[in-house]
Amino acid sequence: MTETAVPAEKRPAISFEFFPPKTEEMEKNLWGVIERLAPLAPNFVSVTYGAGGSTRERTHSTIARILKETSLTPAAHLTCVDASRANVDEVVAAYHDVGVRHIVALRGDPSGGIGTAYTAHPEGYQSSADLVAAIKRQYPDMEVTVSAYPEKHPESPSFEADIDALKAKVDAGATRAITQFFFDNDLYLDFLDRVRGADITIPIVPGILPVQNFKQAKNFAERAGATMPDWLAKKFEGLDDDPETRKLVAATVAADQVQALTQQGIDNFHFYTMNRADLVFAISHLLGIRPNGAQKAA
Ligand code: FAD
Repeated sequence: MTETAVPAEKRPAISFEFFPPKTEEMEKNLWGVIERLAPLAPNFVSVTYGAGGSTRERTHSTIARILKETSLTPAAHLTCVDASRANVDEVVAAYHDVGVRHIVALRGDPSGGIGTAYTAHPEGYQSSADLVAAIKRQYPDMEVTVSAYPEKHPESPSFEADIDALKAKVDAGATRAITQFFFDNDLYLDFLDRVRGADITIPIVPGILPVQNFKQAKNFAERAGATMPDWLAKKFEGLDDDPETRKLVAATVAADQVQALTQQGIDNFHFYTMNRADLVFAISHLLGIRPNGAQKAA
């Protein structure tokens, strides 16, 4: 059997999400992951913002290092939680000053924890749409990406309210949405139909979570209001103490998911890497993506 090369123009676009490392060891690990994934030439790599702005400095220093030491385009996540408008503006200005031109703008989770009521800071941006508008007003050259929820956000009263919220973010200047992770592709495809039905035309990039650790993914899914299907649980049954087999199963599951989406015409994927390279590298490979030496320095 011969391998058919995927023409460059048919290769899906990819992006990767990292979280800011807490310790020197985690930083070393992240840097190894970035070095391994960078040659796959992602459209951008994003770095999350800890709950309530707890990683403000670490997110900034990770983003600044990516900008300085690699040829990757970084996108900085930013939330409105527990921050005044001045405070948020300062963070955005600091990013703009060092050359960052892409922000993933979010409301953020309630400071009392998921499940508690969200209260905006009295002098803060009241919603994610407010934040998007403020960023675009101050820096028209800043690209702004937002979130989207195929299964609707847990706080949202209805699918319609969720679509309205997404539309408000687009009207405020967002040009891309990345979805919460999902495992059943129909959830995403149905959501996409609803989004397009509401005349929202920006790319709605599916967020793909390779299941590095089933228990942890289940925990994330519960907190995020995402469905963890029974068929998925069955695939990982009995593998708690068998990381090697788990890895193979996880790669198969995620590869099947993205390949099925590709067959539906989806050509853009955002990977929640959990700061690990192996699975994401393998899945990208199966999508026809090969290292191309895009990395400038490490
Ligand atoms: P929004 O899009 O503003 O709102 C989500 C939905 O909730 C809306 O559609 C609306 O219908 C509903 N809603 C919002 N507010 C209310 C309200 N007051 N009453 C009723 N309904 C309401 N969190 C972090 O802390 N750091 C990160 O780096 C981070 N990155 C993320 C990246 C992606 C791609 C995604 C999908 C999520 C991320 N999150 C992150 C999680 C996110 O902060 C939470 O899901 C948060 O609860 C909502 O923020 P948002 O900007 O997604 O909300």
